[in-house]
Formats: sequence, C-alpha cells, structure tokens
Amino acid sequence: MTYAADLTPYAYGMGQDDGETPDLHIGWLSSGHAYPKQPPDPAFVQALLRCCLRPERLYMGYHVCDLGCEHSGQPRQLTRDYDGRTLFLGNGEIRVTGADRQVYAAPTLIAHYVADHHYAPPTVFVDAVTQLARRLWALQGEPLERVRRLDGAARFALCIDALQALQRARPRPWLADMLATLDEGKPGVVDLLPILGEQRRRKLFQRLRDLQSTCPLDDAPLAKTVVALHYSFPVRKRFFSPAQRSPQEEVLMVWATAQLLEQAHEAGLEQWRDDVRPRRGDEPG
Ligand SMILES: [Zn+2]
Repeated sequence: MTYAADLTPYAYGMGQDDGETPDLHIGWLSSGHAYPKQPPDPAFVQALLRCCLRPERLYMGYHVCDLGCEHSGQPRQLTRDYDGRTLFLGNGEIRVTGADRQVYAAPTLIAHYVADHHYAPPTVFVDAVTQLARRLWALQGEPLERVRRLDGAARFALCIDALQALQRARPRPWLADMLATLDEGKPGVVDLLPILGEQRRRKLFQRLRDLQSTCPLDDAPLAKTVVALHYSFPVRKRFFSPAQRSPQEEVLMVWATAQLLEQAHEAGLEQWRDDVRPRRGDEPG
C-alpha cells in the first residue's frame, strides 16, 4: 500500500485540477510508519463499512494490508461482512466532506485498519464518515434476503429496471449503449446454443469493458457495476440455477444487484419495487 501521512494533499493516481483545494489523505497506512491508535468504536466501524459499500475511483487491481496481520501478503482481496453482505476492500477509495467543506480521501482498506489494527483517524474525518453514513442507502435485512432468493433471470430483469430508471432520471450516452449491449445478451436469446452463447458473451463483455474505459469519471462506479452485472449474468444456463453457481459468483451477483438498487435510490428515484427497497442510514432498523 502506498504510504501517505494523514492530512497531506492527495497525490495518488490522477492529479488535482489546477486551482482547486486538494483533497487530503486519511488512512494511507503502510508498514514502517507509525499511526495513532485507540480501540475502535463499533458504531464508527459500521459507518465506515457503510461508506465502503459505495467506493469511488475503483482500481482494476487491489491493494492488500501490509501491517503484519493474518491478511498481510495474502494474494486474495480482503473482504468484510456488512449486515450479511460481502464487502470488498482495497480496490477503491471513499471520499467524505468535513463540516469545513474539506474533502478527505481514504482507501477502503481503512475499514480493516480501524477495526483490526485500531487505527484512530482524525476526529474531523470520523464526524464526516458518521454524517455520510446516515445519508447512504444499503440493501439490508429482509429485502436483501429477497434479492438472494431471486433466480438469475429475475435478478437480471430487476437490474435492467433499475438501470432504465437511472437512465430516465439522467440520460447518459454510455449507459444507452450499455443497455443496448446488455439487451443483446439477455437470457433466452442464445441459450439454446451454448457455444454461440459463450462467443456472444465474450464479445459483449469486451464491448462493456471498452465502454467503461470511455465513460466520465463521475460515472465510473456505476459503469463498474454494470460491467459486473454482465459478468455475473452471462448467457450460460448454470448462472440461472442457484445450485450450480459458485459462492463467489453468487456474491458478485448479489453485490451488483444491491449496488444498482442503492444507486437508484441515492439518485432520488421513486421506488419501483418496494419489496427490494434499500434502507437509508438514518432510518430505524
Ligand atoms: Zn491488516
């Protein structure tokens, strides 16, 4: 993991626009650099995990923890459970805005650093995360279980509904292309010919990857979800039978579906299906 001291100007990845106040680093920890510690507040860990459900600046690869824990040096991406959801850490960042309007940039691994290494970020960041978590939607509880119980075809249809609602709310040319591309690969079109289906799936996947690389930066999280959606619903019959899916495939499918439902609600859309409605952070459980 690239080290950066807390509250220094953000320098990882893309540069800052000229003249703008730079975002400040929080939680860019690495071995050999001391950091402030205190036992974590469970409520803050939950708020942090909730923010990590919606990472920004997703990377193609991922970072691992090198602070000397059991996860250090593991070639697998670190995950954590959030209310029954598997959360992937190390491949993105969270951005939160403090009461002073300052933006803070933290790697998603910060949730692991706080929970497992007792890293204590600055209070201004703790407050900003707590505020943001109250506004974020998350698919939890019974609605999450309903999504899990849907078969592949029903989940696919639900995701297309969500994407079309997002597109109606704010039309994006790249999303129009993606919807058309996904439509070509929808179940039933080529599933009678498995070899043709596999060829079509590969072609569509490549097309989606190309689109993802050309869409505006602000839309990157949504584009990544859409690519995962297609990857999770390839035109192969086994994906439509829960019994034949691997646990990893199942996790990815639920992740993509939940992300879409949450992004649609955050965009202020009317709920089109109350039975799979995410919950806002400040709503009572
Ligand atoms: Zn660790």
